[in-house]
Amino acid sequence: MTQSTSAGSLSTAPDLPFKYVGGDAALDLVNTADWTDRGPEHDRLTDYGRLTRWAEGAGVLSPAEAAALRARARAHPKEAEAAYRNALEVRGVLQRLFTAVAEGQSEREILDEFNRVLARTVVRMRVASDAARSRREPRYEIAWREAGRLESILWPVVWSAASLMLSGDAGRIRVCGGPDCGWIYVDRSRNQLRRWCQMATCGTREKTRRRYHRARRRAEHR
Ligand SMILES: [Zn+2]
Repeated sequence: MTQSTSAGSLSTAPDLPFKYVGGDAALDLVNTADWTDRGPEHDRLTDYGRLTRWAEGAGVLSPAEAAALRARARAHPKEAEAAYRNALEVRGVLQRLFTAVAEGQSEREILDEFNRVLARTVVRMRVASDAARSRREPRYEIAWREAGRLESILWPVVWSAASLMLSGDAGRIRVCGGPDCGWIYVDRSRNQLRRWCQMATCGTREKTRRRYHRARRRAEHR
């Protein structure tokens, strides 16, 4: 298994658990690091093995598929390193794209970048008949050519990103309001007032900060 650190990340956190709070696999990939003004911090995606663990948790890979890719990565460390670097690059593109969408910035340039990634992905994609279908009700699913390749982990994630962009949920994409967080999520709450990636982390931190400032203001007025 490759043991390189994340390229360009200011700090890594290989022991922190992955969180799946974005509401979409593409956003959950972005949320494997904290996106600060200084750059990505607490990067949980530290090598190819961690990428397979993330994908398993996200439901992108079955445990058996993930184990097969890890075995291949052990046998082909150079290929694993390249697939890992590619994953970091794609994650960066998704982070810039969805941040621009959420904040209503011009996304034209980053959309071009994303479309280049998408073009490399869809050439692998095909429609296959679902193995579990019945004769009365034909059902089809997405399948991938060369699904055993190490970079194949990213293909369903990129397709998920494209599907999210085209869905009615694009207008519900938000960046967490927590300082030094930058996590992205789809706000599917009924009143659409979700402000945090997770109440237990950023929401609580913000409340504590406000309480502190209120207490200080009171103290100053005394
Ligand atoms: Zn947050």
